[in-house]
Amino acid sequence: MNELDEKFLTAFLVELLNIPSPTGFSEHAIDFCEKTLSVFPGLSLQRTHKGALLVNLAGTGKGPDRALTAHVDTLGAMVKDIKPNGRLLLTQLGGFAWNSVEGEGCTVYSSGGRSFRGSILINKASVHVHGRQVDLKREDETMEVRLDETAKDADGVKLLGIGVGDFVAFDPRVEVVNGFIRSRHLDDKAGVACLVSAIKTLQDQNFKPARSAHFLISNFEEVGHGAAAGIPKEAEELLVVDMAAVGEGQTSDEFHTTICVKDSTGPYHHGMSQRLRKLAEDHQIPYKVDIYPHYGSDGSAFLNAGGNVAVALIGPGVDASHHYERTHMDALVATTRWVIAYLRES
Ligand SMILES: [Zn+2]
Repeated sequence: MNELDEKFLTAFLVELLNIPSPTGFSEHAIDFCEKTLSVFPGLSLQRTHKGALLVNLAGTGKGPDRALTAHVDTLGAMVKDIKPNGRLLLTQLGGFAWNSVEGEGCTVYSSGGRSFRGSILINKASVHVHGRQVDLKREDETMEVRLDETAKDADGVKLLGIGVGDFVAFDPRVEVVNGFIRSRHLDDKAGVACLVSAIKTLQDQNFKPARSAHFLISNFEEVGHGAAAGIPKEAEELLVVDMAAVGEGQTSDEFHTTICVKDSTGPYHHGMSQRLRKLAEDHQIPYKVDIYPHYGSDGSAFLNAGGNVAVALIGPGVDASHHYERTHMDALVATTRWVIAYLRES
């Protein structure tokens, strides 16, 4: 039974990827999720105090509630200073290497509500002036934004309304080709797309789960405290849907969904993970089991905040994470089917 609307999944993901949402500036992405889900009568939607979206789907039975989460916030930057020559110095939002955005287009959002285009460069970018700067360390002091504005100095840039604390979003450069989705910020907009597609599939079928489900579209994961708050206290389980790390030494790939049994914050819940593996096998969902060496999730954030739930982590394989990422529809479909199977489980 092919019950999943893959066109919807792709279209939703592409649109979400194109909405800038660096951590702390994710309101438009949350709005978009809310707008998409508001057409379904079986859901109740609310915002948490810190701006995440909580979606409740009432269950028919008396079993304990479940929570699921994925995050819309992404890597990004903020203006730290304006140099005398009008170039902008940045501070990072989230953990990434500066070389992963070197040469990338960006948008600066001023506090007055305007946006400005530019690009991220090293401060010795011209090979003809500075030679090949292969040994230049890419760090806060050597990276800058070149604005596409005629302002020639710091005063001119300030006159535009640009200042310290303005958010900077990197161009995602979304491309869908041969079933691959290549873009920045698939972490974790791919996960959000899987959750929203799972909800849509069940709503299209007028399906009411046995247990009430609470979906938290989290907005501060990249800085470590996204789902630390916002998971309803009735929930006894938390299924985190976040990207699987693909690369040398990993079992994960772009064509499978993965269950992560341990990351740098420790093991996930064994019993819940075992149940999910059995579900995947029963539904012939292609999955891998993996361990991520440099990774923490919103599940760890909730546990560290005192959350008393069983936590498991699944997600689509994403290549070149926190760089120019890529996944494949196969991984997104497998992840979504797994979420649906979980919600259907009584
Ligand atoms: Zn993530």
